[in-house]
Amino acid sequence: MRTLGVLGGMSWESTAVYYRALNVGVRERCGGLHSAPLLLHSVDFAGIAALQAAGEWDEAGRQLAVAAQGLQRAGAEALLLATNTMHKVAPAIQAALDIPLLHIGDAVGEALRRSGVKQAALLGTRFTMQEDFYRQRLSERFGIDLQVPDAASMAEIDRVIYAELCRGEIRAGSRDFYLECLERLRDEGAEAAILGCTEIGLLLDGADSPLPLVDSTERHVAMGLDWLLGEA
Ligand code: GLU
Repeated sequence: MRTLGVLGGMSWESTAVYYRALNVGVRERCGGLHSAPLLLHSVDFAGIAALQAAGEWDEAGRQLAVAAQGLQRAGAEALLLATNTMHKVAPAIQAALDIPLLHIGDAVGEALRRSGVKQAALLGTRFTMQEDFYRQRLSERFGIDLQVPDAASMAEIDRVIYAELCRGEIRAGSRDFYLECLERLRDEGAEAAILGCTEIGLLLDGADSPLPLVDSTERHVAMGLDWLLGEA
């Protein structure tokens, strides 16, 4: 197997899911005592979240690029950046590396393309929903149009991510709110919904969802597994 670097901690609640799912995936595919050869750099998220809020994306990109270079030096042969939002600075991170950054947007886009989805709802942080970096990648590479909730709903979705999910709080009221947003987006034409924040899978499991869900964490882990096992 190849060695995969994971740059996480954004938040660690979802990085823990990556760690477990990558290992479970290797066990399922390889059997026996096989487990995933991983190198993990888990940041202190408070500093990164403060840079996001201040709009200091270049500094955040610089810090993550330094961390990614450390993983490369330690022997990582490819990198998973375990957050959708920080893919805003993926170009800066990739430019600092000789190894490939396996882009979360491509993992999501491939899954949607395979299911023939052309119009998808996007739930994520306000940065992921409002800015261009995610929308553009999915539209240019996969021909998928994204739909987002209205401004007030986006603010609440974003609040739940930072104030609850990234702190390990899972609340029924927030789950209901997310499901209501998905219902409205379905009525407006969405064929599927992207859980475009790596913590949302902790809140929604698809059971009551009005739309088929594409969980960015799940898809990104699958992409990492294919790469680890030399199938990509
Ligand atoms: N993990 C989240 C994401 O996938 C949000 C936390 C962050 O801002 O990185 O976007």
